[in-house]
Amino acid sequence: MTEEKKKKKEIESKGLKAVDPEIAEAIQKETERVFYHLEMIASENFASEAVLEAQGSIFTNKYAEGYPGKRYYGGCKYVDIAEDLAIRRAKEIFGAEHVNVQPHSGTQANVGVFYSVLEPGDKILGMQLSHGGHLSHGSQFNISGRYFQSFFYGVDRQTEIVDMDQVRSQAKTHLPKLIVVGASAYPREFDWKAFREIADECGAFLMADIAHIAGLIAAGFHSSPVPFCDFVTSTTHKTLRGPRGGIIMCKKEFAPKVDKAIFPGTQGGPMMHSIAAKAVCFKEALSEDFKNYQGQVITNARAIAEEMKKGGFRVVSGGTDNHLVLLDLTGKGITGKEAEEALDASGITVNKNEVPFDTKGSRVTSGIRIGSPAITTRGMKETEMKYIAKLMKEVLNNIGDGKIYEKVKSSVRDLCLQYPIYQSRMEDYGQT
Ligand SMILES: *Cc1c(COP(=O)(O)O)cnc(C)c1O
Repeated sequence: MTEEKKKKKEIESKGLKAVDPEIAEAIQKETERVFYHLEMIASENFASEAVLEAQGSIFTNKYAEGYPGKRYYGGCKYVDIAEDLAIRRAKEIFGAEHVNVQPHSGTQANVGVFYSVLEPGDKILGMQLSHGGHLSHGSQFNISGRYFQSFFYGVDRQTEIVDMDQVRSQAKTHLPKLIVVGASAYPREFDWKAFREIADECGAFLMADIAHIAGLIAAGFHSSPVPFCDFVTSTTHKTLRGPRGGIIMCKKEFAPKVDKAIFPGTQGGPMMHSIAAKAVCFKEALSEDFKNYQGQVITNARAIAEEMKKGGFRVVSGGTDNHLVLLDLTGKGITGKEAEEALDASGITVNKNEVPFDTKGSRVTSGIRIGSPAITTRGMKETEMKYIAKLMKEVLNNIGDGKIYEKVKSSVRDLCLQYPIYQSRMEDYGQT
């Protein structure tokens, strides 16, 4: 197609570039940023073109309050197909008795569970934010901490693994109505069975939040909480590699309560485009490719941890069982904030993160969280991980040295060119 024809077609179809060049440009710049940078934020990933196509579809227009076959709007025949498929596939992946695929996000999924079985003022017990927990597990800054009385457990100071004695004593002291297990910055496996026993001992409901590790669980690389928990919530956009969104799985007896808690309890119309994209993501998650991918995610995270350790960096808990590595930079005399900024200037995106018993607070922190999911989606393996860890060490050992940042940035760019992502989009922009 000639440039002129292209322009004409764009204007005729009133494509984004014609209607809103500023937003079109922001999206192009983001595509380029993603292409030329190493995205190592543990909660991020690159959804497939198929997922993006479903999410960008006309399903975005449809109101479908209610559930398949029981909608409050007409014309839901085709969106019902999408939601039924999403539910069926999620059940197949996780072996759940009931699945609700409507939560708009991971936090919304958690709010849905809380709303289904808790009353304002009830007690919940979750993992401490600074030990790896999530804001939506009882933080005072979140609705979960404002509407409920929240208590916390954490990791053992020595092993940096969840202290089950502490979980038990907190549970027995406070008698929470709900215990939440799950984290955003915890590199080890959870002992679901031990949590179940404690929940039973104090008569609490048990909810697992697998937002980060859902993909690993789907592929069988992390034990599943589904048999042990009353509720399991997740995002669909982290290791699961789907569209931005959430899901709730639960035992059959809670199905009506959970469904009512999402709609009409805490949400209005479901996002049918996202639900269709979740269905696509779940189909992908049932494939052999996906299994291999998740195995490589863990192998890669371990390779990074080992290489950083060799450079004298302290890895929280001594290693990793999953997709993330938590570095404690205290011994290196740098803060998480400084490390994040230096790496960012070098083309490597990570986030500063508190380490257990951190004294620097959440704005500065003593650590960084490194994730392998997105770079593994690009096809990178152990050799590249070692190389990336080497680049990271170079930056972290030379904080403030702009020349090093530039040098590393150029190496990152070369590496990224060898492992393209969203190549066809880049070609549409006339790049690469
Ligand atoms: C990411 C995350 C969430 C929140 O997901 P959002 O979609 O950002 O609301 C909830 N719980 C845990 C453990 C997470 O890591």
